[in-house]
Amino acid sequence: MPSPQENSTTARAPVKWLTPIQFVPGVGVDRAELFAKLGVRTAGQALFFFPRDYEQPASATLITQLKDGVAASLIGQITEVEIAGGRSTGRSILGVLVENDHGAIRLLFFNQPFRAETLRRGTRVLVSGVPRLNGFRFEFVHPKVTVIEAGESIPEDQILAIYPLVEGLKQSHVRRALATVTDDLASSMEEALSDEIRLDAASRLDGVLPAVATPLMGIHDAIAQLHRPTSQSQLDAARRRLIFQELFVLQLALAMRRRHLTTELTAPPLETSTKIDSRIKNRFGFELTDDQANAIAEVGRDMARQFPMNRLIQGDVGSGKTVIAQYAMMLAVANGYQSVMMAPTEVLARQHYQTLQKSLADSRVRLGLLCGSMSAAERRDVLKRTAEGTIDVLVGTQALLYGDISFAKLALCVIDEQHKFGVQQRLALRRGGVDPHCLVLSATPIPRTITMTMFGDLDVSTLKQKPPGRGTLHTYLSEDGWRDRWWKFVSQKLDEGRQAFVVAPRIVAPEIVAPQIPATQNADGEERDGEPVNGERANDEVETVSSVINIYDELRNGPLQDYRVALLHGRMTADEKNDAMQKFFQGRTQVLVSTTVIEVGLDVANATVMTIMGAERFGLAQLHQLRGRVARGKQPGHVCLFTDAKGSPEEIERLNILASTTDGFAIAEADFRLRGPGDLLGKRQSGIPMMRIADFSRDEAILVVARQIAQEVIDADPDLSSPTAKRLRAQVIARYGTVFTLGDVA
Ligand code: ADP
Ligand code: MG
Repeated sequence: MPSPQENSTTARAPVKWLTPIQFVPGVGVDRAELFAKLGVRTAGQALFFFPRDYEQPASATLITQLKDGVAASLIGQITEVEIAGGRSTGRSILGVLVENDHGAIRLLFFNQPFRAETLRRGTRVLVSGVPRLNGFRFEFVHPKVTVIEAGESIPEDQILAIYPLVEGLKQSHVRRALATVTDDLASSMEEALSDEIRLDAASRLDGVLPAVATPLMGIHDAIAQLHRPTSQSQLDAARRRLIFQELFVLQLALAMRRRHLTTELTAPPLETSTKIDSRIKNRFGFELTDDQANAIAEVGRDMARQFPMNRLIQGDVGSGKTVIAQYAMMLAVANGYQSVMMAPTEVLARQHYQTLQKSLADSRVRLGLLCGSMSAAERRDVLKRTAEGTIDVLVGTQALLYGDISFAKLALCVIDEQHKFGVQQRLALRRGGVDPHCLVLSATPIPRTITMTMFGDLDVSTLKQKPPGRGTLHTYLSEDGWRDRWWKFVSQKLDEGRQAFVVAPRIVAPEIVAPQIPATQNADGEERDGEPVNGERANDEVETVSSVINIYDELRNGPLQDYRVALLHGRMTADEKNDAMQKFFQGRTQVLVSTTVIEVGLDVANATVMTIMGAERFGLAQLHQLRGRVARGKQPGHVCLFTDAKGSPEEIERLNILASTTDGFAIAEADFRLRGPGDLLGKRQSGIPMMRIADFSRDEAILVVARQIAQEVIDADPDLSSPTAKRLRAQVIARYGTVFTLGDVA
């Protein structure tokens, strides 16, 4: 299709890939600076400046075809502008009449008098919004209005790309530049996907035989259609191709890394005999669930091989993941090797140590504990025994990985409650060219698409069943006037002998102490209080923020004054924290008022009631983990969520998901849809660069196909060294070479 500029610029020289954006017709020096802010410096980069959305064709809805309440957009000219009310009252209504050949509509803006500056009589505008019939005329309240500048022609049947902008840059500027750039450059792009791959992908995506499939769109058309679609179906086809490519390149990188881990690394193969197996299992004192038994079988198979196990055990809180770790560690011991188990916090490390101590009381297994609060002498001793090999199982905080620690014969590394175990950590544990087997335990159920990407090189075992005999978990969303009733209910449970958690998001109200909180992690790698994990919003303007210290004072002087209430937060010293934990563990305190320090792993079966203050500040996945603390024993658990501010409807809806299900996977999927994968895992943690066009949640079907094909390609050509794979290889290395340290493959 002809570009709008064609007539006026027939004589210009075509732009080239490296032409500075400034020389693209219509850009110039000033706008080039704005483009630079968007990361676009050359014409070639502009091609990959992808639209964030599209405007539907304006002529799609005629004024005569508008329907009450059905979104529509149309083009017209402003013929009347009226403003009622004004500065003095602070309230105003701006009415704008827009007319075209088919009739007239009215736009209404409340308290936005400044809009009159751009919406003047005679201006042509593109209006999109939801019309309401008022009398005989349709009204659009607060519609989206795009001013069409003089001389700018918008073919009325064209879908328009909407780009991310910066102040000073207009859609029309970007569209014009992109029209030129796509005209001149799209056809010279290199096709990275061979005909076979495009056909293969299309046939799998559509579930039809290759003979009748239409291959994915070629790169030239895809880029041209992305910027200037000729129809919705062409645009869809273009997006599908580009989404596939983005996910395919990622999956190729992951497949290369998986292959690297299995073929080039060595780990000690550990034998499991029937005798060893039953000796280990006999110590558990309960029947394994089927899921646990399966996971153990998988772990046993992995560890028997000569390359490192790389397995993630995911299961809801309380699903019994520790048992799998214990099995793996005992398997290592039985084979004469050492294991190390790392927990994210000292509290958890100590808890694991105690659990193991109890379970291995009369065995010959030698345990060691290493954490930040130990004395230098104790620490030296543990390190020495680890190096000599007189400790078989070392438990500690993750920080221990970074110290200079050496093992006599390390075969296994267990990482508890951690999402990411990266190449760096793996290298830190590497000794003499031998890598340990790795087992990662995570209580954050991870959506399938994420395990296929962020954790694309991990094998996954999932524990869906709960160990038998667990009480049900009830979750309530608090309503106005509930506080008194709730605290009565809590006291009643305490009188019955149960214990209770109260969780609040901050240490103290932020206006008092916030400036003094050092913005660092403490040595144990615990997250800071006041900034819950998973990138919760830091809404600093809220003055009535629940703070753990305020709540603590309020409760022990008020509704819970007859009970033993204790405080736990991340700014206490390690000794204080341990003390608080131990007392609660032993039942000497009845109520623990805490920040999210208790989030992971903590196992106190007698605690059955939890109150969460400021619930709106936590992610769903995190709330779900928190409440898992009170579903550990036979007694039913009760959780009440209070919000600080009066919740918005979306907020209530979000929290209601939690009240309506206890399935961690369903919650993870919902959280993922609402917040995106970055939030779910913590942006910095994921290590995967942002996707430009793909969306892990929306594009699951494409992801699955991309993964299958990527695996097949890498199986046949592990280094992508065939001539047809040259361009793909270049893309994989350019995008993921450093992230995944594919350097040695490259
Ligand atoms: P999580 O998966 O949250 O780490 P844990 O491993 O801490 O869960 O297990 C929670 C509790 O369930 C522990 O007290 C553990 O002893 C117990 N448990 C684990 N597996 C079983 C089982 N198969 N039957 C009964 N109790 C079990
Ligand atoms: Mg655990």
